[in-house]
Amino acid sequence: MTFDEAGLCESLRKTVSKSGYVKPTPVQKHGIPIISAGRDLMACAQTGSGKTAAFLLPILQQLMADGVAASSFSELQEPEAVIVAPTRELINQIYLEARKFAFGTCVRPVVVYGGVSTGHQIREISRGCNVLCGTPGRLLDVIGRGKVGLSKVRYFVLDEADRMLDMGFEPDMRRLVGSPGMPSKENRQTLMFSATYPEDIQRMAADFLKTDYLFLA
Ligand code: AMP
Repeated sequence: MTFDEAGLCESLRKTVSKSGYVKPTPVQKHGIPIISAGRDLMACAQTGSGKTAAFLLPILQQLMADGVAASSFSELQEPEAVIVAPTRELINQIYLEARKFAFGTCVRPVVVYGGVSTGHQIREISRGCNVLCGTPGRLLDVIGRGKVGLSKVRYFVLDEADRMLDMGFEPDMRRLVGSPGMPSKENRQTLMFSATYPEDIQRMAADFLKTDYLFLA
């Protein structure tokens, strides 16, 4: 697959090319067609592999093709995609890439993370949120405060899943997938990325992904 063959709309193609991405990286070449086909995916990929664009491009492409409503101010927002990463730095990088690709479109990404007050983040959510990026604890916080509903989630992405476990986030991850309104794994598309694939990650993949998920190493 080349970027021309990835089925991207003109806006995404332009941003890909403006970003200087000429050739898809391996995780993009193999991952984008799997994600575009609607399959669940467990991919072993390191930071620097281009994994962020591998999941953002097909998700944003689909949300744009479906013309998700340009969000307007509302106390409760119902994002179509939820992306989780273990640290503020990582989730912010994902958010910035999402914002770059979604610029000028109807899709609005928002980021939430701990260590700062929630007020500003909640105001940003209320202004419209299609793609919610967050660290696990702060995501549970904004959901618990009734600012985010999960019933429209179509894409659930866990990035750096092994670090998430190392940092003790497994209970938060499980609370998140079990949150009221979160569609069951049969009714959402789940994508997991991890640098390593030890037993506890395999167990999490079995619990969070559909039984016919694809594995990419
Ligand atoms: P990631 O692994 O997602 O953190 O990406 C690592 C870096 O590679 C980021 O700075 C991306 O902007 C860049 N990148 C992603 N895909 C490509 C590509 N196809 N060609 C060149 N650079 C890329």
